[in-house]
Amino acid sequence: MRKKIVAGNWKMNKSYAEAIDLINNIINANPNPTVQLIVFPPAIYATELVKLTTSTPIKVGVQNSSQYDAGAYTGEIAASMLKSVGVQYALVGHSERRHYFNEQNSDLALKVNQLLKNEITPIYCCGEILAEREKNNHFNVVKNQISEGLFQLTENEILKCIIAYEPVWAIGTGVTASAAQAQEMHLFIRNSIVQKYGNKIADQISILYGGSCNAKNAKELFSNQDVDGGLIGGASLNATDFIAIANSF
Ligand code: PEP
Repeated sequence: MRKKIVAGNWKMNKSYAEAIDLINNIINANPNPTVQLIVFPPAIYATELVKLTTSTPIKVGVQNSSQYDAGAYTGEIAASMLKSVGVQYALVGHSERRHYFNEQNSDLALKVNQLLKNEITPIYCCGEILAEREKNNHFNVVKNQISEGLFQLTENEILKCIIAYEPVWAIGTGVTASAAQAQEMHLFIRNSIVQKYGNKIADQISILYGGSCNAKNAKELFSNQDVDGGLIGGASLNATDFIAIANSF
């Protein structure tokens, strides 16, 4: 059985007080324990959120991490530092980081390596822009993203990763991939893992859907065979919506 996961990417939102309020509301809602909930606050709040969630089933991640070990990299946060404050997950290659910060698959491969070296679980994001889908090039794009960012890993290492398929045209737009489009791409990703690592490994890797997923459409999306949960942006900023999504399996 693959892990069911609902992850909330808070992006660059919330004051400190609002972040504390949001995590307390999520904790107090007693979320479904069969679903792994992970929150991705702005990194500056991570230490405090780790403390607040310690005796709860909720885990804390960050939205980015450095591809370097340590040293003269102004503004960066090393995976070892994240580990030292109890962060257990990190997003890698979210489309906003690829777009605004020019992150390339080769950088992302290094980030994944750093995270695994520090026992932090990467959630590796992939997904095509609209023009690529319209040219029917979306499978190639996603295949390249996962091959160049993840397929450097050994069998043992890839088993420690989670993948999030996030079609860029669906992120923050209110347009969701249909359940059929999501399932088709998730199956394609799983089959790509089968080709590289075999069935037994591919069967164990959780693949999340992201892109305007909300309390209304989550059930239909999550009912697909190869959709193991969601990476949620906008709807994760409200505890009631986030919990409703977690209860949609
Ligand atoms: C995201 O940024 O990962 C995301 C899925 O955003 P939204 O849910 O707002 O589309």
